[in-house]
Amino acid sequence: FDDRDGVIWYDGAFVPWRDARLHVLSHGLHYGGGVFEGMRVYDGAIFKLTEHTERLHTSAHALGFAIPFGVPELADASEELVRRQGIADGYVRPVAWRGGEQLSVSSAGNRVHVAIATWEWPRLFGDATQEEGIRLGTSRWRRPAPDTAPVHAKAASLYNICTLARDEAEAAGYDDALLLDHRGLLAEATGANLFLVIGGALHTPVPDTFLNGITRQTVIGLADDLGIPVHERPLEPDALADADEVFLTGTAYEVQPVRAVDGHRYRVGKVTSALAVAYARLVRTP
Ligand code: PMP
Repeated sequence: FDDRDGVIWYDGAFVPWRDARLHVLSHGLHYGGGVFEGMRVYDGAIFKLTEHTERLHTSAHALGFAIPFGVPELADASEELVRRQGIADGYVRPVAWRGGEQLSVSSAGNRVHVAIATWEWPRLFGDATQEEGIRLGTSRWRRPAPDTAPVHAKAASLYNICTLARDEAEAAGYDDALLLDHRGLLAEATGANLFLVIGGALHTPVPDTFLNGITRQTVIGLADDLGIPVHERPLEPDALADADEVFLTGTAYEVQPVRAVDGHRYRVGKVTSALAVAYARLVRTP
């Protein structure tokens, strides 16, 4: 990924892709002091640019640091980068981290660095899985309690849990992992929020141990528009047996149908399809 042509926005300047480096003694690398975002570009425009850029700031705040560029400045930089890179349909990855000025666990004295990269990106799981759905396996790794980690931040350190879960799921032949939370309630996948369709209504876990995804909020709005009832409530794993349809939402996943969780099988039904179509239309609405 680091050996490409093009430019990356780095601390306020556009630098050649291969020169966007950081020092091995960066605080962010050793202690996980970093936050990031993921945004999608549709027809050359970044979907929910302000919401994502604001969340980058909120995530940094949750880790106790401030990003030295304002939301409008970062949003402008993202748009300019997409233009310069000539991206039509792609992904944008802003990241901010504590630098290498000092390396004690305390972060006093560390500068905060910011970079933004963008690249062309097709669907996450390919067109066939959009039709058929993906398979999830429940992970032994769990989302931590809100007094154990800043669970609402898009913090790099929390993605260790996601990578452990995802690697194990893939090794077992699944496409992705489903994580429970510290109480054993249904939480989310490794990069996406969870919805069950039960009797024509959406049931989705309360986002108290994971990100209240921007896609999740968008899809809840679309369900309201379509007259589909939405119940946000604590969900026991038993609810998986009651579901007719299951899908995930996320910037990268979009509305991703799920065809199986462990031994439970689901069809890609009309509620999931209606929301996937509505979402696909919305993201390309100028
Ligand atoms: N949970 C996790 C762990 C994620 O990485 C993401 C992707 N950012 C989401 C949920 C969904 O968030 P969003 O819809 O804002 O992309």
